[in-house]
Amino acid sequence: MPDSPPAYDVAVSRLGTVPDDTPAAPLVRRPEVLERTRVALTEGPPLLLTDVDSTLIGDEVIELLAAHAGKEPEVRAVTEGAMRGELDFAQSLHARVAVLEGLPVTVVEAVRAAVRVTPGAQELVDAVTAAGGVVGVVSGGFVEVVGPLAETMRIHHAVANTLEVSDGRLTGRVTGEVVDRAVKARVLRELAERHGIPMERTIAVGDGANDLDMLEAAGLGVAFAAKPALADRADVCLPGPRLDDLVELLGLPRA
Ligand SMILES: [Mg+2]
Repeated sequence: MPDSPPAYDVAVSRLGTVPDDTPAAPLVRRPEVLERTRVALTEGPPLLLTDVDSTLIGDEVIELLAAHAGKEPEVRAVTEGAMRGELDFAQSLHARVAVLEGLPVTVVEAVRAAVRVTPGAQELVDAVTAAGGVVGVVSGGFVEVVGPLAETMRIHHAVANTLEVSDGRLTGRVTGEVVDRAVKARVLRELAERHGIPMERTIAVGDGANDLDMLEAAGLGVAFAAKPALADRADVCLPGPRLDDLVELLGLPRA
């Protein structure tokens, strides 16, 4: 019997050399769809439409607003109710915004400053723009935060809900059409039509159940650090923490 260590010792010592923070690789669930998209992008520029909360940024804006108001537990209770399926998206939005009633509108500026942009988000935006493409964001959050963020990041279009303000205070209501999952998919189709970009060259990125319709409508649906309900249906899953993993997957040059 040779006096060599058992094989599992070797395996264990090799594992021990892998740092714990090694990023997970993207998961391509539908290689044929990714390949079709890459081919389409050789024929013309893309339209990239991304969700905002927990996708383009690491935060949920409504929770930041609530935290600044000391009302985070109330909002979280509603969010958890929505996750359990007790409320649909519009109902849960109305219930959460109602918690914000009476807050001075200055809280929005504080939240704007507190938002953390996802690593690699700007690089992704810049790569798509450099390829001659169009970038949009569509959010069930609020245009008061999403609009200036999009401008700072040189994103061409921003669609989100609007907080109603009266006498310098939030009324606890939103105005206009609620941006829900159906509206997100519609915005994708409208932007594609407006810019003359065929759906095969559209890419949608999101993390939540309200992004599902948009991901399914897009030429390529990308789940980002997503809940299983979305990840199981996406063409490509990015594990996070970086969004610009998508640049190489799409075959785009870095800006
Ligand atoms: Mg989200």
